[in-house]
Amino acid sequence: MKEQINICGAGLVGSLLAIFLIQKGYRVRVFEKRKDPRITSDDAGRSINLAISHRGLHALKDALPELDLRALDLAVPMFGRAIHDEAGAVVFQAYGEASQHINSIGRSELNILLISKAASLGVEFLFAHTSTEYDATNKQWTFNDALGNATTTQSGEIVIGADGAFSVVRKQLLDTVQKQAQIDTLDYGYKELEIKVPFSNKIATKEALHIWPRERFMLIALPNKDGSYTATLFLPMEGELSFKALSTNEKIRSFFNTYFSDTLELIPDLEKQFEQHPTSRLATIHTATWYNDHTLLIGDAAHALVPFYGQGMNAGFEDCRILSEIIDKKGATNWEQVFAEFFTQRKKNTDAISDLALQNFVEMRDHVADASFLVRKKIEKFLHQQLQERFVPQYTLVSFSDTPYSNAKDVGVLHAGILDEIMALPGIEVLWPSEELEKKVIKIAEPHIIS
Ligand SMILES: Cc1cc2nc3c(=O)[nH]c(=O)nc-3n(C[C@H](O)[C@H](O)[C@H](O)COP(=O)(O)OP(=O)(O)OC[C@H]3O[C@@H](n4cnc5c(N)ncnc54)[C@H](O)[C@@H]3O)c2cc1C
Repeated sequence: MKEQINICGAGLVGSLLAIFLIQKGYRVRVFEKRKDPRITSDDAGRSINLAISHRGLHALKDALPELDLRALDLAVPMFGRAIHDEAGAVVFQAYGEASQHINSIGRSELNILLISKAASLGVEFLFAHTSTEYDATNKQWTFNDALGNATTTQSGEIVIGADGAFSVVRKQLLDTVQKQAQIDTLDYGYKELEIKVPFSNKIATKEALHIWPRERFMLIALPNKDGSYTATLFLPMEGELSFKALSTNEKIRSFFNTYFSDTLELIPDLEKQFEQHPTSRLATIHTATWYNDHTLLIGDAAHALVPFYGQGMNAGFEDCRILSEIIDKKGATNWEQVFAEFFTQRKKNTDAISDLALQNFVEMRDHVADASFLVRKKIEKFLHQQLQERFVPQYTLVSFSDTPYSNAKDVGVLHAGILDEIMALPGIEVLWPSEELEKKVIKIAEPHIIS
């Protein structure tokens, strides 16, 4: 047996990392603040379902053969966006080619799958244990259980902080170098609402991510395996149309009646859910330092991002896969070198996906319902069909490939320039598609892209 590795946090990323590490021969111990989710549900205020796509599935498969398939057993495929307008009409926009899809999966079910697999491989889980103290001089971390019993790591023993966006490990690590994380809080909050009633035939497109885009705000809904949906309202915290303004049952119902009328029959207990479910804030967290010679941050603890590209967990799972590759390549005789290499590879990419996630918020809440945007998307798809690998849309690179996020971001900038030029062609919005325009579009795009 190799040395002991401690992970703080048995969330999605910590549990997957434990699976990677135990199979390399390390003794792996995971400290988790919550109670064991296999026994008791303790998920209040956390998103109920999330979208897992290529990067997440790739990491699961690398961690353990068929783990990706076991996760997909729990998931519902989503082949595109189902856009609901204010009059109740629904338009479907595919994410990519007909077979390409992302997958809606229950957070809790996925977490339980990962914890169960890790435990069956010999990972030791200590639930109801919270990271409390860090003695930087002696390189020791202390975890406490509910009764105040303390477990302290041996001097220099590895501790990996997978304790999420509000990471205590991050705070203590940064304190030692007198730095602070940069927390960019969005002026928006979100509230989850359960749709237990099946969608009516009119709006039933089960295998889709439903969006009600309303320019300054939006509602989305992801399908669950049992036929229900989990909707999330993203709304400014303050202002004329805001969570603060929705202060009475009458105002809540009237707001939904005006903007999301087709959902009223789906959420009969709207006011009750509004009151009972928390309103949470969203933030992007940038951390200048992720490691020292015995500590590393991973997943949301290192780089929490807003959820609009559906990539936070996927990026965290990719972190685990890449860290595993670096350990295999470098051999973990010098952990600081491993952590430094991990930071160098990941920081630029997680910064890029953080930016893209913010950009996608504007696209989802505002542009997806716009006629000009729809033509733009059709032209993007046409260029991909014609030019194949030479013109792969950014969404495809992010959601259906392992292309580093920073490269996907650069490609997005290049494509945006090309599409801006194309959309400036006179009359394109009404005249597309035509043979003449198709030729013009290719002529504009080709000189910009690498052969
Ligand atoms: C509304 C919303 C929707 C989202 N949708 C998507 C999506 O569709 N696709 C996607 O890829 N991502 C999505 N995300 C992001 C995703 O939820 C996170 O990126 C992911 O959960 C990060 O996993 P993690 O393990 O790093 O952190 P977490 O899931 O937060 O897990 C951290 C764990 O550490 C524990 N912990 C915390 N503090 C301590 C402590 N002091 N001691 C011990 N344990 C501790 C916590 O209890 C928790 O179990 C969404 C996020 C939100 C908010």
